[in-house]
Amino acid sequence: IKPVHVVGGGLAGSEASWQLAQAGVPVILHEMRPVRGTEAHKTEGLAELVCSNSFRSDDAETNAVGVLHAEMRLANSIIMASGDANQVPAGGALAVDRDGFSDDVTAKLEAHPLITIVREEVSGLPPAEWDQTIISTGPLTAPSLAEAISAETGADALAFFDAIAPIIHFDSIDMNVAWFQSRYDKVGPGGSGKDYINCPMDKEQYEAFIAALNEGAKAEFKEWEGTPYFDGCLPIEVMAERGSETLRHGPMKPMGLTNAHNPTVKAYAVVQLRQDNALGTLYNMVGFQTKLKHGEQVRIFRTIPGLENAEFARLGGLHRNTYINSPTLLDGSLQLKSRPGLRFAGQITGCEGYVESAAIGLLAGRFAAAERLGRPVELPPLTTAFGALLNHITGGHIVSDDEPGKRSFQPMNVNFGLFPPLEPGTALKPEGFEGRFRGKDKAIAKKRALAARALADCQSWLQDL
Ligand code: FAD
Repeated sequence: IKPVHVVGGGLAGSEASWQLAQAGVPVILHEMRPVRGTEAHKTEGLAELVCSNSFRSDDAETNAVGVLHAEMRLANSIIMASGDANQVPAGGALAVDRDGFSDDVTAKLEAHPLITIVREEVSGLPPAEWDQTIISTGPLTAPSLAEAISAETGADALAFFDAIAPIIHFDSIDMNVAWFQSRYDKVGPGGSGKDYINCPMDKEQYEAFIAALNEGAKAEFKEWEGTPYFDGCLPIEVMAERGSETLRHGPMKPMGLTNAHNPTVKAYAVVQLRQDNALGTLYNMVGFQTKLKHGEQVRIFRTIPGLENAEFARLGGLHRNTYINSPTLLDGSLQLKSRPGLRFAGQITGCEGYVESAAIGLLAGRFAAAERLGRPVELPPLTTAFGALLNHITGGHIVSDDEPGKRSFQPMNVNFGLFPPLEPGTALKPEGFEGRFRGKDKAIAKKRALAARALADCQSWLQDL
């Protein structure tokens, strides 16, 4: 069997290599360290954790990343096996001894008879003879390869920073205060004139909000992160610093909007939220990219009328991050549409986090193995954490109808907002539950049902394979 080439031996590349080799497909894994380093890696070990040593919650009953852990264990993940074997105490989280973990992954991959590890930088797209390749070079992809990718995909399709606006669970927005309306009721292709959620502010609320932004604690940039801002993508607190009216003439302008709950009173400023996923379970705050500290974002953004109880699927941030515009570039099995046989995996596809990167590596490895072995490539069901995350990357995105071509794709951790809603009529109330069943109890029961459905569907998917 001809080998599959994997470029980058981080979380995703290690997992992809393992999955391929365990399926009986030879692998050549190209890792540039120690020949060339990155700004964050410190060792030459495979699957090095560059920052925290936590894989986050291990709760597979009510937490989406815990469900992803469980699905990866079912799929014989090397990252989860080495993580479990090197666990350190961390409450409900799975945290690991970072050196023990990386050493374990490195030793297992080095010892595998079907894996050859080559320590070299791959500085261009794969040559024709590498007919099956997975690129998993991560957020700090070496510049020469990033340039080659950009030449293939078009410069607009490769980002070097993520300037992220917060994303909110729709069901936590108070629609008795907020209302649906597109500015000037504009109807774009496929739109309804009611595509945005609008949160109104009066003068006093707006001024207090600007003051809070100016006083809020900001996250510092690491020196190597370089030039921080894209044109047209300034953090809101930087806009606020430029003058108290800047936001009201920018992303918070009230023009073309009429408060459906109070039509005679004109809002002084409006915060708009745009649908973020095709399911309509998540909304992003338009133009609200920010480097305020996470706690400050929650505190300040919950002062916005309608968002008092907002639950954030992700908070805003600004990081060095190389990632491609996967929804337009990749097919459902992570293959570059313009070059079949070339797959992407890990954070460069626009997922975020150690576990998510490894999970996408696991899927890319399995898809490439199936193809090499002449078997059909079976995608995981959308109801699984694997499927929900894959769909976030390759499919589930909408393009705003009144801003055609605007990219809505932003890197994201796995969360229940990416899962399709439960089937109507799903019984949520636990047997013997006393009292009124609502609020927090209901939210937890919903998570339990989504998690149970995911694990059952993942099991069937793996059995069918
Ligand atoms: P990586 O693990 O970075 O692996 C990519 C590999 O490719 C590296 O080994 C690199 O040396 C190699 N490589 C790059 N270019 C080439 C080339 N041209 N040829 C050959 N090899 C190449 N996530 C969390 O969950 N928790 C955190 O605390 C966290 N902190 C982070 C801190 C920083 C500074 C950064 C940048 C990211 C952080 N992340 C964190 C996000 C992310 O999940 C991790 O970066 C994760 O390691 C991504 O996995 P990956 O496999 O896609 O990339």
